[in-house]
Amino acid sequence: MDIKYHDNLIPYLYEGVYVVDQKRRIIYWNEGSERITGYSQAEVTNSFCYQNILQHVDENGKQLCLEGCPLNETLKDGIIREARVFLKHKEGHRIPIMVKTLPIYDSEQTIVAAIEVFTDERFQKQIYHENIELKDKLRIDPLTQVANRHYFDFEIAKRLEEAKLFSNTFGIMIMDIDFFKKVNDTYGHLIGDEILKIVAHTLSSNVKKTDLVSRWGGEEFIAIVDVANNDDLINIAERLRLLVAASSYQFEDGKTIQVTISIGGTMVTKTDTIKTAITRADENLYYAKQNGRNQSKITDNKM
Ligand code: GH3
Ligand code: MG
Ligand code: MG
Repeated sequence: MDIKYHDNLIPYLYEGVYVVDQKRRIIYWNEGSERITGYSQAEVTNSFCYQNILQHVDENGKQLCLEGCPLNETLKDGIIREARVFLKHKEGHRIPIMVKTLPIYDSEQTIVAAIEVFTDERFQKQIYHENIELKDKLRIDPLTQVANRHYFDFEIAKRLEEAKLFSNTFGIMIMDIDFFKKVNDTYGHLIGDEILKIVAHTLSSNVKKTDLVSRWGGEEFIAIVDVANNDDLINIAERLRLLVAASSYQFEDGKTIQVTISIGGTMVTKTDTIKTAITRADENLYYAKQNGRNQSKITDNKM
C-alpha cells in the first residue's frame, strides 16, 4: 500500500495524527502524537493499536480498544466518527482528547487504512503558534529576514548527510557584495542596511523553495542549491548575479544606488566535508574578486 503523507504539513500539526493499516498496525505517527502521548514514533510504529499502548477509555472508564474503538469501527464500515475519549500518557496519567477517525480508500474504493486525528483539549493552539514564532526567530536573520548562519550550519549538515546516504550532489555558493564598505562610507550605514535587505530579498526570491539562502555574515550570503550538475549551478549563479546588478535602492528624489556581487560556488559531493566544500567555494570567491568582481566562479568538487 502506498500512502503519501504531506511531508511539510502533517508532521507539524498540533493535533496528533496516526494511521493504521487493515491489520490495525500503526504505520504513521506524527510529531503531534509524540507530544500529546509521550510515545515516540520509534516506540509506536509497526506495533498494533490493539496491543493497547494508549488504552483509550470512554468517560465511564470502559476500555475501548477491544470493543467500541472508533478507529477500528471506521476501518470496518468507513464511517467518519468523532468521540471524546481519554488516552493513557506514557507516564501513566490520563488525558482527555477529542478523536476523529476517517477511512482511507485505495483506487478500487476498498478501505486500506484509517486515520485518527486527536487533539489534547487542554493544549493551547496559541502556545503552538508561539513556539513556531520562536523557532522562526532562532533561524532568521533579523535585518535581512533570510535564514541565519546557525540555520545554514544545521541545513548543510543535513544535506551532506543525505548526499552521503543517497550519493546525490548539491551546490553551494558564497555571495559577497562588491565594495560594500564604500557604500557605507558614501551613504551611511542605514542606507547600507537597506541595500543589504534588497540584495537578500533578490537572492531569496529567485531560488527554488527547496534551496536555502542565508546570511553568512556582514555583507556575505551563502546558498544551498538543489542542482544535479555544475552547469546548472553556473546558470543559477549568473542569474542571481545579474538580478542583483539589476536591483536598486531608490531615494525619494529618484536617485538610485546599485551594487554588484561576486560569487564563489562549488558542487558538493559525498567525498566532501562541510569544511572542504566551503573552502572550495571561498577560494572561488577570492578568485572572482581578484579577477575584477561582479562575476561568478563555480567549479565541481575538483579545483
Ligand atoms: P569587496 O568587494 O572586496 O568585498 O569589498 P567590501 O568593501 O565589500 O569588503 P569589506 O570586507 O572590506 O567590507 C565589508 C563591509 O560590509 C564592511 C562593513 O562595514 C559592511 N557591513 C558588514 N555588515 C554590515 C551590516 O550589517 N550593515 C551595513 N550597513 N554594513 C555592513
Ligand atoms: Mg565580505
Ligand atoms: Mg564585500
